[in-house]
Amino acid sequence: MHGYTWRTINLFVDMEQFLMSHSAQFFLIIIVAVVGFIVQARLQSVFKKYAKVAFPGGLTGREVAERMLCDNGIDDVTVLSTPGRLTDHYNPATRTVNLSPDVYNGNSVSAAAVAAHECGHAVQHARGYTPLKFRSAMVPVMTFSSSIVTWVIILGLVLINTFPALFWLGIGLLGASALFSIVTLPVEYNASHRAMVWLKDSGTLQGVEANQAREALSWAARTYLVAALSAIATLLYYLGFARRS
Ligand SMILES: [Zn+2]
Repeated sequence: MHGYTWRTINLFVDMEQFLMSHSAQFFLIIIVAVVGFIVQARLQSVFKKYAKVAFPGGLTGREVAERMLCDNGIDDVTVLSTPGRLTDHYNPATRTVNLSPDVYNGNSVSAAAVAAHECGHAVQHARGYTPLKFRSAMVPVMTFSSSIVTWVIILGLVLINTFPALFWLGIGLLGASALFSIVTLPVEYNASHRAMVWLKDSGTLQGVEANQAREALSWAARTYLVAALSAIATLLYYLGFARRS
């Protein structure tokens, strides 16, 4: 009993040192990853559930999108079907709302919510919504940056004592990626807000169905929140390395 207690105390001391020293940031990454896993699972189950819920009027995702664009005075955006699952997106370069077959042909609450959300991005584009402009400008830089950041960080750590600038370049790239994921937040939340306002004002979704659409879009938004937290946790982790080196 005595020994057991001592072992327990030692374990706590070890644990405390573990958290206080080099691994606190790593611990943060693990927590964010676990939360991310839970949010992703919840998102999938909520969308699956409401993909089975029909609503009065029974519009398909395509019809919802075309009506929302029309009501917002947008006539230069085309609604297309794109292959795959969860591949729905708005492309500002081609001015197209691309909906996956499930959403394009579907006439469920989930399909209506996704279609309206993507049109929310088209409305942002048409109105010159500043966070979207900023995000779009960052996309080409981020595509390049994300393809090299892992190697820059690894090489930077190897050469930390001889060529520290490389590691700091890696930190800069991680910082840009964190900034990008933060800028994504207002863009995503605002697109869902525009979607909900139109779905209700147009009478497309009402009462229970409107609340279900809001719930589905809220879980989608939370995945972006977790992605931003993950990018920040990764940045803090490598900054922790820099402090010890
Ligand atoms: Zn979006």
